[in-house]
Amino acid sequence: MRHFVYLALNTLLLTGCVSSQEGTINRTLDSFRGESACYDRETEPYTPVVDTHLHYRPFDGKAIPFDEMNEYLSRTSVRFVNVYGIGQMLPAQSSCSNYSKCPGVPVLPTTRSDFVNAENMIASAPDDLHLTLSMTFTDLSNPESTMALMALYEKEYPGLFHWMGEVNLVKQAQFNNHHVPASPQNIEQWSDFMAELRARNYPITIHSDIGNDAHPTYYLHLMEKALARYPDNKIVWAHMGVSYEQTRLDAREHISILSRLLDQYPNLMLDISWRILDDYYFSRPGNQPLYVDFMNQYSERILPGSDFVAFRNNTYEVYQEELNVTSRIHQYLNDDAFRNIALGANYFKLLNLDYQAPAVCL
Ligand SMILES: [Zn+2]
Repeated sequence: MRHFVYLALNTLLLTGCVSSQEGTINRTLDSFRGESACYDRETEPYTPVVDTHLHYRPFDGKAIPFDEMNEYLSRTSVRFVNVYGIGQMLPAQSSCSNYSKCPGVPVLPTTRSDFVNAENMIASAPDDLHLTLSMTFTDLSNPESTMALMALYEKEYPGLFHWMGEVNLVKQAQFNNHHVPASPQNIEQWSDFMAELRARNYPITIHSDIGNDAHPTYYLHLMEKALARYPDNKIVWAHMGVSYEQTRLDAREHISILSRLLDQYPNLMLDISWRILDDYYFSRPGNQPLYVDFMNQYSERILPGSDFVAFRNNTYEVYQEELNVTSRIHQYLNDDAFRNIALGANYFKLLNLDYQAPAVCL
């Protein structure tokens, strides 16, 4: 133990790291501000330094307190995080906490979670983490008020928000709770706020199911329409387009859809958040080499994320577990891809952040 503490202290002095309670060495936020020691994949975590998909607010509003959530992150490898609210909430007076158990109860976009996150940011932004606040209120099937609300956010919280999403283009999981997919006409109606996002250089993370197990590409045309209509927006496609409604899409077909769209739309990025990807796709026999090759080839177009939801009953252990599962595949990436995805290079570039991903040790 003593030996370990000595080693940890030594590494801290050399690279600016902190040791977590679990005995792994995690780097500090400050260590990313300039050149830093090379990253040793043998001894340092495969979990990422950035979590681009973390819901600080749950569907029913009863959340892990903001400071506690940040304390969880401090105990992991994550130093950069997107602070998502939630793209849809249950009614304020509802006793339902899990929408899937309450069919008929609406779960709809709202500004409530964004305002709570903004207030928390003002009151107690941590200095050992870099938080990027995101607007999650946008109703893509009813977009008329989006510009006015963006203006309101900017008036109340100037310069605080830097991202939009996760917002839902089509999310079959919520069809029983009043969610309707955005129509091609709705997608046309996004033009004013999509122009505003371009002007402000905000990425937008869109949840859009490719299809389902009965009809594998049933909804793909909607995402394709959004990409064709807004090729200059920085669109991040959440979860590589899959969901619990689609756990059996053939890996080769999946990869061919994603590759085609990445080739066609240079501003498109994918987020590999949500453990469903590892549970049903990456770890299925025969699939892993296909996805590893794909991620190596398109490594500049991929962002990591947990898709953790800060329900009040979720614990640090649950967060660490979600982080481990969603980044398990990082262990098999080549060094360039690991640096781009897990060490934050893509994220820093996307947001023009003045931070540097360390080089991987040879
Ligand atoms: Zn999510």
